[in-house]
Amino acid sequence: MAEPAGNPLLRAWQLSYLDPEASLALARGLCSEPGVDLAEARLLVALGEVRVSPLPQAAQALAAAHELLAAAAEPAVRERGLALCGELQAVLLRRQGDADGSARLQARLDLSGPADGRGPVAREPMHRFLAHTSRAITSKMLGQVDVSLRHLHAAWDAAQQTGWPGPYITACTNLGGRHHDLYNLEDARTYSLKALAAAGEAGAKMAQRVAACNLIGIHHALGELAEAEALGHTLESLLRDAPAATVEDMTPPMALAWMAGGQHERAEALMRSVQQALPREPAGEWALAWGWQMARCRLAQGDAAGAYGTALAVLQASLAAGGAPAGYDLMALQRVLCDAAEATGNAPQALAHLREAHGLYEQLVGRSARARYVALDITHQLEQARHERDVAVDGRRSVEDDRRRLIELNAALQAQMAETERLHAQLREQALHDPLTSLHNRRYLFEAGPGLLERARRQGAPLCVVLLDLDHFKLLNDTCGHAAGDLVLQRFGQLLKDTLRKSDVVCRHGGEEFVAVMPDLGADEAQAVITRLLESFTSLQLALGRRRLPRGSFSAGIALFPNHGSTLEQLLSRADRALYAAKNQGRSRIEQAPRTGFATLE
Ligand code: GH3
Ligand code: MG
Ligand code: MG
Repeated sequence: MAEPAGNPLLRAWQLSYLDPEASLALARGLCSEPGVDLAEARLLVALGEVRVSPLPQAAQALAAAHELLAAAAEPAVRERGLALCGELQAVLLRRQGDADGSARLQARLDLSGPADGRGPVAREPMHRFLAHTSRAITSKMLGQVDVSLRHLHAAWDAAQQTGWPGPYITACTNLGGRHHDLYNLEDARTYSLKALAAAGEAGAKMAQRVAACNLIGIHHALGELAEAEALGHTLESLLRDAPAATVEDMTPPMALAWMAGGQHERAEALMRSVQQALPREPAGEWALAWGWQMARCRLAQGDAAGAYGTALAVLQASLAAGGAPAGYDLMALQRVLCDAAEATGNAPQALAHLREAHGLYEQLVGRSARARYVALDITHQLEQARHERDVAVDGRRSVEDDRRRLIELNAALQAQMAETERLHAQLREQALHDPLTSLHNRRYLFEAGPGLLERARRQGAPLCVVLLDLDHFKLLNDTCGHAAGDLVLQRFGQLLKDTLRKSDVVCRHGGEEFVAVMPDLGADEAQAVITRLLESFTSLQLALGRRRLPRGSFSAGIALFPNHGSTLEQLLSRADRALYAAKNQGRSRIEQAPRTGFATLE
């Protein structure tokens, strides 16, 4: 790893995660090349064999490397070589199924380290990448979700410092995949996009395919259907020269992309072509994805009974095989069962599946929040990195040593700071939005409202606060179900956004109540805009599945600054009274707060 550029050993290290087979072939060749460091070449062979070859062959390669490195004359070379052999030994133990033994060995390796006692922190980036990636996999096998995620982030950090595409692509793919598993879709999307871009740049086709598959699932789950479909075209061309097994593996994401584009027949035909693979692992993710997607296709084509039968068969096969792990695909399967049961008129069955789906959804959301928290915890590590940098400054062992460490720690600090900032921005964004309608929430209203009022005051401009409440919404929930209610809320939110100006603040105030703050508008102008909104909403015909929903209406109350109050609270209270009057006068109407004799300007 510390070889000069252009050195074939260095090339083998660089290739080790980009193209393991090519790296191994190169390293094998170097073992008989005169003038090449044989111990290092053997170590590279061991790295390749331990990752891709049958176990006995891998163990032999590792033993050969270990023997040479243990005999190295230079203590630093010996120490580093043996530490790397230790890492490979841990990989081997894991591959042999001994995750506990692997973890114990890794813990020992963490305690040992270069002579200055800094443990893995002081290792070269590639060494750290390898160690953290391996610890992430071992801890995942042991069910230690958080620990595993932390190691993946650390591996990503180290991968960046290698400056090589292989480790970087691997680290991004791992992080994207893991956050996806944990339903932390935002982070999953970020890292998978990085993986796709880097793999494309390096021409790493397999990694491109994996990233594209992940991203299709992520975009689909986030409701970004156009993006999912676009990636379908990318994946399709990437699969053109792929081995048959890969094509089969990647058929569900391929079909999902076509589903996102509304091409259900095409998706169904594609999935039928791999149906014979279903019995291979009936409780695996592949089978579940196949099941819910196939059922969705049939449902979309109006065959509710067929959809229910397909999904139920897949669910039962998975149960017979010991049950599928709780996750997105199982939730999606329960959801399509619910929708199909509802469409066939079997309400009790639909409810039972809805309950199952809801339980799974809550688990997913819990996992997602936890994953985000763990990623955020990097803040804490930032403190630690800062502390270590101070120690490096104070210690003054050797000037050169300190300088190097300082550069390394500063780089780590920078990367962590950027990451922390990004996470904070993301959390803030989430805290200010309503997840169902993606409108702003009450919290945002009270953050943004005072500033808008202040501006209106300074400019002597009017401003309207409008409170809107959907009419007889409880009745809709009771007769058509909660999902219908949610759909109406979403579409109403969209309509609000489309009808009002960008400069208006539109929030979901809670339940079926919304608030709009409209700067620079008088009460009559606001009334005209809201009247247009009411006309659009009352003529909006929505459907849930094949069921048409009754058309809705809303009532609204308008309060005007400065006539009806000078604070947001006062204006909201006057708008609320006007809304109450609108409800009393028969609903589906808009009332302005009555003029009071005096303005409450301060
Ligand atoms: P009114 O015309 O007087 O406003 O009658 P209403 O039925 O709309 O008013 P009420 O306050 O009695 O009922 C509001 C209902 O909104 C009750 C509650 O279950 C429902 N609701 C609140 N939040 C949500 C949500 O997020 N999704 C769904 N589907 N329903 C919701
Ligand atoms: Mg209401
Ligand atoms: Mg209400």
